[in-house]
Amino acid sequence: MAVTSEVRKVVILGSGCAGLTAAVYASRADLSPLLIDGHEAGGQLSLTTDVENYPGFPDAILGPDLIERMRKQAARFGTEYLAGAATAADLKHRPFRITVDGSQTILTETLIIASGASARMLGLPSEKKLLGHGVSTCATCDGFFFRGKELLVVGGGDSAIEEGTTLAKFATKVTIVHRRDALRASKIMQDRAFKNPKISFVWDSTVVDILGGDRVEGARLKNLKSGALTQMKVDGVFVAIGHVPNTKIFEGQIDMDKAGYITTRGGSKTSVAGVFAAGDCQDHVYRQAVTAAGSGCMAAMDVERFLGAQRH
Ligand code: NAP
Repeated sequence: MAVTSEVRKVVILGSGCAGLTAAVYASRADLSPLLIDGHEAGGQLSLTTDVENYPGFPDAILGPDLIERMRKQAARFGTEYLAGAATAADLKHRPFRITVDGSQTILTETLIIASGASARMLGLPSEKKLLGHGVSTCATCDGFFFRGKELLVVGGGDSAIEEGTTLAKFATKVTIVHRRDALRASKIMQDRAFKNPKISFVWDSTVVDILGGDRVEGARLKNLKSGALTQMKVDGVFVAIGHVPNTKIFEGQIDMDKAGYITTRGGSKTSVAGVFAAGDCQDHVYRQAVTAAGSGCMAAMDVERFLGAQRH
């Protein structure tokens, strides 16, 4: 495996809002950051459409456009980008060692983990089999393929409602299946969905099987109160039940909570000196683009202070 001889001042893992904001700050502080894109380049914003709550854009901005602007902004001050995902990390000694795509090892004095979180799945064998064949986790990416079809969305949070609303632009009918009888989603999103004539709800229910050979043809639902099983004919199933932090390669090396979110304290500091965390990999509470950006800024400033203290 190729190991670079150069030791970077800072490596940033993740190219979402948190990682890119860290890159803007770290490059403006002359730390010449190397940013490793990760397996979902651009993070969750690149999978969304209109962003209406990022300050400074009164008419909204498309998620991918916002990410592209941040990338250019960080590049302007000298951020280097590396396509690929970190597949292993050794945080026992400094410089830390980060392996990219199993083939290249990078050495760095400090590390900012901004690896985000990925879609949680139901865990059904049929879901795995039909992923990409009618099962999806991204309405923005795949909604177009379901023009004139009937669709099912699983979940009761903002993501499920947003997916449902996006899909209703293409589909003839969208059914949102939620395991309780009340949504977790924000009131404004709920109201939009309730008013949409194409969207209906199935409450207190969960998907126990997704039906179909090569493509999704239906779903089997279970009412969690009565235990009754029913079958629905649908052409697609969108799973929108939250996210899991992308922190597996750090397990056992850094403090995390039970769900795998990295524990930070005193700003962005982790349990390993010289390793900082920002964005959704350490935040299961706020999870907004603007809070991720804010924590990316904090991480870059913490790196700058850490390296400054090391010199003296
Ligand atoms: P979330 O708020 O955690 O909601 C996940 C939903 O999935 C919940 O309704 C949950 O049910 C359900 N669920 C979880 N595990 C399940 C399982 N195994 N089977 C069936 N249902 C399951 O996640 P999210 O909707 O992805 O939102 C995450 C964050 O991003 C939130 O802070 C949200 O406000 C934000 N967000 C904002 C926007 C926007 O403002 N435009 C859009 C998307 C997301 P329970 O309710 O019973 O727990």
